[in-house]
Parts: sequence; structure tokens; C-alpha cells
Amino acid sequence: GEEITAEMVPDLARQSFPMCMRSLEDTLRGSKHLKHEGRQQYNLFLKGIGLSVEEAIVFWRKAFKLITDDAFNKNYKYNIRHGYGLEGSRKNYSPKSCQQIITGATPGPGQAHGCPFRHYSEANLTSSLLTTYGLSGSDTKDIVSAVKSSHYHLACTRLFEIQHAKLGVAKGEGLGKGDSVDHPNRYFDRSRALYK
Ligand code: SF4
Repeated sequence: GEEITAEMVPDLARQSFPMCMRSLEDTLRGSKHLKHEGRQQYNLFLKGIGLSVEEAIVFWRKAFKLITDDAFNKNYKYNIRHGYGLEGSRKNYSPKSCQQIITGATPGPGQAHGCPFRHYSEANLTSSLLTTYGLSGSDTKDIVSAVKSSHYHLACTRLFEIQHAKLGVAKGEGLGKGDSVDHPNRYFDRSRALYK
């Protein structure tokens, strides 16, 4: 794929990230920090979109604005490199699938990991779709109603279609041929293909 640098991430997040990763990006910008599970979910996703480990370290160092280089190196660098299979057991971790994220640990107060369709309150999801994504009232209602029937993948797929309507994606087309979202990195890859 495309070579991704740390400074490209905010624009890519607006264009092509699924809601779970956009939410982590927005929380990171707002609080200049992410808790452990969020860092883990986001680091592996960013690895999956093509951010090298060097760029990942630049990315996280710049985003954690409230701490010193020393604290960053001591407390965070190891885990970032670990996600890239460069520390400890050197396991090559895969980015998490929707299934893993949806059934994983429920985010507690101050945590931003998880799947917004599964884990946000109805009020929070509704306001996020209306304000962050600028959706119409009727599109928002459709998505919230899919969520209420526990069709999280369909809700995410519908948001993909709406976000990419200007690039010619029609309702029902999903990620192509009617496929629904099953992996955040697939969402991203399909979006980038449409932008080319
Ligand atoms: Fe992310 Fe998957 Fe949830 Fe979409 S359905 S927000 S890609 S976890």
C-alpha cells in the first residue's frame, strides 16, 4: 500500500477511518493520552494501515504532549515496539477484527477502545453521528435502529456508504458487492481504494 507518515494520520482519520479508530484518534487529540487498551487497539490498526514502527514512535511521542521524552521512552515506547513484534516474545500481532473488538473488554470511564456501535450509549452515538459525521436525522435514525437490533456490522457498513456516497458508493453496496464491514483495516483499505 501507500506509505503512511505520522503527520498524515489526522487527515486519513477524517477521510477513511472507521468510527472505532476515529474515536481513538479524536480522544488522543483531545486528552493527549490514551489508556492501555486504546493504545493497543489503535497501535495495531495503525501498523495495519502501513505506519512503520519509526513513524509510530514519532506519532505517539507527538500526540502525548503532556509528558517528557524520558517518561515516554520509559513507559510507552516498549509497548509500541511490542505491537510491532520487536520486543519480548516478538510475536507478530495482527490488527484486531471487528469480532474481537465488539466482544472484547467493555470500555470503562475515560477509556476509548471498543466499537462505538456496540459500546456507546444511544445518546452518545446519536450526537456523534449528527455532529462529528454531519449525518442527517433520518440516516442517524437508520443507524441507531440497526444498533438496537444488535446489527453493529450493518450500522458500520451504512456509515461507510454514507461517508463514501460522494465517491459513488450506493446504499447496499457496502465495501463492494454488498460486503459488510468485518475488519477496521478492510474499511480503511476499501476507502483508500475509492479515493484513488
Ligand atoms: Fe470498528 Fe468494526 Fe465497530 Fe466498525 S464495526 S466501528 S470497524 S469495530
